[in-house]
Amino acid sequence: MKKDFFTNDKRLTQNVPVGYCESSKNQTPNVRTFRYFCIRNFLNMQLSPRLQRFNEPETLKMAKLGRELRAKGIDVIDLSLGEPDFNTPTHIKQAAKKAIDDNWSHYPPVAGYPDLREAICAKFKRDNNLDYNPENIVVSTGAKQSLANAVLAIVSDGDEVIIPTPYWVTYSEIVRLAEATPKLIKTSVTSGYKLTAQELEKNISEKTRLFIFSSPCNPTGTVYTKNELKALAAVFEKYPKILIISDEIYEYINFVGEHESIAQFDSIKDRVIIINGMSKGYAMTGYRLGYIAANAKVAKACEKLQGQFTSGANAVTQRAAITALLSDLRPTQEMVKQFELRRQRVMDLIEEIPGIECAKPDGAFYIFPVVKAYFGKNDGETTIQNSSDLVMYLLNKGHVSTVSGTAFGDDDCIRISFANSMENIEKGFLRIKDALGKLK
Ligand code: PLP
Repeated sequence: MKKDFFTNDKRLTQNVPVGYCESSKNQTPNVRTFRYFCIRNFLNMQLSPRLQRFNEPETLKMAKLGRELRAKGIDVIDLSLGEPDFNTPTHIKQAAKKAIDDNWSHYPPVAGYPDLREAICAKFKRDNNLDYNPENIVVSTGAKQSLANAVLAIVSDGDEVIIPTPYWVTYSEIVRLAEATPKLIKTSVTSGYKLTAQELEKNISEKTRLFIFSSPCNPTGTVYTKNELKALAAVFEKYPKILIISDEIYEYINFVGEHESIAQFDSIKDRVIIINGMSKGYAMTGYRLGYIAANAKVAKACEKLQGQFTSGANAVTQRAAITALLSDLRPTQEMVKQFELRRQRVMDLIEEIPGIECAKPDGAFYIFPVVKAYFGKNDGETTIQNSSDLVMYLLNKGHVSTVSGTAFGDDDCIRISFANSMENIEKGFLRIKDALGKLK
């Protein structure tokens, strides 16, 4: 009965029940009754319990709330941004335009065009001295899809996935979506948010199938050194069933030296899935292109999943990515120079705010200050209990958008992005300082 009601009755398409609130005065009793049942059935509609397993990304929620306030004419400074505030370099945009004109408009191969996969292999050799063949590479719709493919391909019900905390919002949620269990290991500001080999080994169990981390890390900016990665690799050597997802999407946004990948250690390279992409280093977030490098078995599995999900990444984007990858890195380096100047300024500004402890980020474009000194305080109107309250307070009273630490597995902190102009950073931090100053 319910099914027929929704699928067969044409009136429903004209009487969409969402947001039903208009006057029903002019309707006949029959139409009114019909619409009442529409709404009731819509509200009772069963969706998959899968949706209850994971949360929406808080980063996107904050960006949305900021946009809503701006639409009301409020000048909100967005320090929640997870993307470079720079435009895509001109030569890459030209390559995209040329791809359209050259009719790159057909379905691409599911794993990506062969010449793009070659270009990615050349990038790995040039930047990381890592040898991969095109059969190891799968190109996807953003690094987020690369991650989803890999997690869904590797784990299932009953498996445990070790994730050092703070972590990027999607890791824990995608693991839950795959019906596996995230095992979160807390790291702290005092250890520079780094997981030690001892802590890693202590948390490995019979059920551990996967380890996921990012270096440089979103949200903390932590960058693991070669020796630290070597110590983690030595632990993984002892546990051959565990695979490692190494998210290196912030590879180029590194303020302390050369990027180091855990895949450089031959004893475990075959078990490492590198995730990378064009979003951060090339300011191409909207192009949506990510990729993995993995052993051929995992790569094939990701290709199989992707074949059903999306049939592969956008063709025009893939052509543009080839140009980006084969060009020199000057535009990226220019962008990173700007991030570095802002990083210094942001550290100076955060130090001026009392009660905050903050590690200097070695990479990426975020700081992750500990703000728990403000919990329990109020401005006479609003009491701050946790980091979610604090970011809502900063948004509503200070008109600055940031992201709560809860989204990254650490409620003592908030994430502040410096992917915004120096002018906006100055203004934003002044507003944060003022708003926090009102909390007693
Ligand atoms: N990995 C990390 C650590 C990120 O911060 C992000 C984006 O914020 C991604 C992956 C996803 O990148 P993409 O936009 O290419 O899907």
